[in-house]
Formats: sequence, C-alpha cells, structure tokens
Amino acid sequence: MAEQFDVVVIGGGPGGYVAAIRAAQLGMKTACIDMFTGKDGKQALGGTCLNVGCIPSKALLDSSKHYHHLQHDYGDHGINAGDVSFDVSKMLGRKDGIVKQLTGGVAGLFKANKVTAFHGKGKLLANREVEVTVSGSEDVTKLEAKFVILASGSEPIAIPGVEFDGEYIVDNVGALEFSETPKRLGVIGAGVIGLELGSVWSRLGSDVILLEALPDFLPVVDEDVARAAARDFKKQGLDIRLGTKVKKAEVRKGVVHVTVESGDEESVLEFDRLLVAVGRRAYTEGLLSDDCGVKLTERGQVEVDSQSRTSDENVWAVGDCVRGPMLAHKASEEGIAVAEIIAGMPAHIHFDTVPWVIYTDPEIAWVGKNEKELREEGIEFNTGSFPFAATGRGLALGNASGMVKLLADAETDELLGAHIVGASASELIAECVVAMEFHGSAEDLARIVHAHPTLSEAIHEAALNLDKRAIHRVNK
Ligand code: FAD
Ligand code: NAD
Repeated sequence: MAEQFDVVVIGGGPGGYVAAIRAAQLGMKTACIDMFTGKDGKQALGGTCLNVGCIPSKALLDSSKHYHHLQHDYGDHGINAGDVSFDVSKMLGRKDGIVKQLTGGVAGLFKANKVTAFHGKGKLLANREVEVTVSGSEDVTKLEAKFVILASGSEPIAIPGVEFDGEYIVDNVGALEFSETPKRLGVIGAGVIGLELGSVWSRLGSDVILLEALPDFLPVVDEDVARAAARDFKKQGLDIRLGTKVKKAEVRKGVVHVTVESGDEESVLEFDRLLVAVGRRAYTEGLLSDDCGVKLTERGQVEVDSQSRTSDENVWAVGDCVRGPMLAHKASEEGIAVAEIIAGMPAHIHFDTVPWVIYTDPEIAWVGKNEKELREEGIEFNTGSFPFAATGRGLALGNASGMVKLLADAETDELLGAHIVGASASELIAECVVAMEFHGSAEDLARIVHAHPTLSEAIHEAALNLDKRAIHRVNK
C-alpha cells in the first residue's frame, strides 16, 4: 500500500525544501522528493540555487573579487602584495565545500523537522498519488498525499544553432566548473547569469565578450543605474556588444566559432569556451500524468492563481516552475505561504516588494518600479539620488562608485521604487524593501537616523534630496 502523507512536495530547491520544512513545522506529515545528485553520488537537496546557482556563483564571485582587489585596488591602501597568483582548483574546491555544507544542512533540517526525503523523480498522478522513480535504480515507490506542492524549478533555455556539449559550449553548470581560466570566453546574453559568471572569469584573466541581442543594456534595470553599471563594467574590461544576434556556434579543434550578426554585418568570433545564458524556463518534464488535473500555461509553466493554487484545488506550485520572477527568495516565500494556506492560516506574498540583486562589482539592487515603468503607467513621481562618492564610508572603503536613487509618489510621497548601484547594494536594498512593505514614504527614510559613517547614509541623503534638502550634495 502507498505510504500516506499530509503533504508531498516534488522538488527540493528553495521553493520545495522551505515549503516542506514549514509544512512539517505546522504539524503535517511531510515528504519531499528531489532527484538532484551531488558530486559524491548522493542526494544533494537545495535544487539549482544551492547546487549550481546562487551559492556556487557567489562563492566564485567572492573568491575572484578578492583576487581582483588584491591586484588592482589594495595598492591605493598602501598594501603591496607582490606577485599575486591563484589556484582555480582550490577556488572550485572551496565552492564545492560551501555547497556541500549547505545541502547537508538542508538534509539535517529535514531530519530535525521529521520531513521524509526521497531521492528520485516524482510524478503526480490522479487523486494526488505520487510516483517516485528512485534515483540510481528502477524501483518505483508510490505515495499518497492530501496536498501536493510542485516545486520542480527551471532549466536553461537553448538557442537554435548553438548546442550545449558540456565542455566547450556550456550553461551555468559548466561555467561553474572550468578547471582553468579560458583565455577567451564568449557569453551569449548580457543578463544576470552572463554578467555574474562573465565577471568571475574576467577577474581571473579571461577576455570576456558578452553578445546581447537587445539594443539596450539591462532593460529591466533603471536607466541611470544601468548606465552607471555599464561604465564600471567597461572599465573592468567586460566587452558588452549590444544588438548582436548569434546565428550559430561550432566547435572545431577545441575552438568555438560563433557566427554573429550586428547591424547588416556578419562576422565570426573565436572563443575557447562559450557560455549560453539567454534565460531559463520552467522545468516540468515527466512531472505530471495526463489525468492529474494540473494544467500548464502556453509558456509551459504550471498554471496557478495568485495564491499559487493550480487547477486542482489541493495541488499548489511555487518557484521557478510558475509565473513571477525566477528568484530563490521569491520561491521560498511562496513555499512558506502555501504551507501556511494548507494549514488554514492567512498568507500571501507581495510581488511588488520582491527585491532583485545582481552580484557584480558594483552590485546592482532594486525593488519596486523604475522611472520608465512609472512614466509608462502615467504615475507622477519625485526623484532623489545620492552618489556613494559623497559618503565618507565609500571613500574609506576605496569603493565609492555608484549611487542610490529613490522614486516616490508626487502626491503621497509613498516610496514606489529604490535603485542602488554600488558596493553592498545587496544588503542596503533591505531597508528600502522594509520601507515599501510598510507603505513608507521618502520622508520616513529621511527622518530615520542612519549610522555614520555607513553606506546607508546614501539612502538617507537620497530621501532628503527627493525633497531638495540633502546636506552633503547640491540639491537640484
Ligand atoms: P530549483 O532550485 O530549480 O529546484 C528544483 C529542484 O527540483 C531541483 O533539485 C530539481 O532537480 C528537482 N526536480 C525537478 N523536477 C523533479 C521531479 N519531477 N522529481 C524530483 N525532483 C525534481 N536567485 C536568487 O534569488 N539569487 C541569486 O543569487 C541567484 N543566482 C543564480 C545563479 C545561477 C547561475 C542560476 C542558474 C540561478 C540563480 N538564481 C538566483 C535563481 C535561483 O536559483 C532560482 O530562482 C531558484 O533555485 C528557484 O527555486 P525552485 O525551488 O523553484 O527551483
Ligand atoms: P536573463 O533573462 O537575466 O538574461 C538573458 C539575456 O539574454 C537577456 O538580456 C536577453 O535579452 C538575452 N538574450 C536572449 N536571447 C538571446 C540571443 N539569442 N542572443 C543574445 N542574447 C539573448 O537570463 P539569465 O541570465 O539566463 O538568468 C536566468 C534567470 O536566473 C534570471 O532571469 C534570474 O531570474 C535568475 N538568476 C538570478 C540571479 C540573481 O538573483 N542574482 C543570478 C543568476 C540567475
């Protein structure tokens, strides 16, 4: 007989594992099925984020940033390190150690919360029966659930004429594993992954060219912020070619030949490695039986309502496999909300206050609307900004490029958007998220005491500047 659970979660990434832990905390008998296998051949919970996404990319971004600063910036502090070198295999080993610690941590949390983990591929059948094909065997187990949460995540999009081969033409997984610095690295797509992983290998010595189809750089980001970031990336040597369409890529004698079209001109570029980072799409292969009652959208995502409920009222779906931004924290918050709804609690997530961060140097972070969106929506707004170069802390750090820009409703002064480019933008944005979640105004931020000297003073001063009363800049 099939084992019975209150909740079965399919997928153990930040959407699924967080949902499973919260459901168990709320007293429900919970199972989580995940098929990811770690380098040691055992189950590695945590999904894309912990294994081949957020965490390993940040580990390499930090290692490569130390190397870059040591080479280029510490001299200004009077620190001479002599000849600096690095060891890629040690960097990769450090990254793998962090991943193992965190994926093992999730397994420990499952044990502590009495979540039963299954290592295998889950498929939802009719009446919330779930079939598990156990990893590394032909065995099939059946589970029965009162409620099912689908959290199967996403996969990289491939483009026609450019075939992944896992060695020369790679996705994020391959680009986190280069055993030596590629001399010439091509990146298709100057989006989040392209910029983050392009930065890693550029700092470690690759000549990096990013091939971006769109004519604008980072169109999802506020224009002033995107412009400031583009300037810094150029200085760092990232060669970002906008309006460039890739027609095909071929590997010949260990060299990737990429045919591109820019304007009316066609040319061939040669690289040692090519990273394709043109977006991700929901992964639902083999997830649903035809009679399970759950529908997909035209884009192949699991169809859900605003509470993440699918077309079967006892089945929910969260994270990258549904609509909304493909971000780990969005997936986790949806997972918590769904577990609480199942337990009969009121729960929701505010999509308007989900922060975005790009972990380049400078970091780029934002929440809410940008100027272009507000103009398109016909909303009247006021703008305030402040450069980190006018903060004592930025100068003391030796990293004072960038700025804070705030947008507030012209009539009510409610904060509608916050955009930061600069050091620690990833941490600074949290204050603006809190302010927006509480429907705070720019005046609220202007009246809060910010510690001196900190980078957060730029948020304070941007809020003051919005009312033309910043102290440490000329108000315009
Ligand atoms: P996933 O993390 O993809 O987890 C889904 C899991 O389900 C996987 O383990 C998969 O193997 C498993 N699975 C799928 N189908 C089945 C099945 N049928 N049976 C069993 N198991 C199944 N987001 C951020 O917020 N911050 C970042 O810094 C960041 N960096 C990123 C860097 C990279 C290189 C990449 C690729 C992504 C990054 N993301 C980042 C995005 C983030 O990883 C995703 O938004 C997040 O992982 C989504 O969580 P999820 O639980 O929906 O899916
Ligand atoms: P992306 O959407 O951020 O960027 C893809 C880029 O590729 C876009 O600029 C797009 O215009 C371009 N593009 C698309 N087709 C192209 C083509 N044929 N030729 C050239 N350029 C093309 O996607 P991504 O970088 O692959 O990342 C996927 C998702 O993963 C992100 O959207 C984000 O949700 C998530 N992610 C988040 C973080 C983070 O939060 N720091 C980091 C990495 C990934």
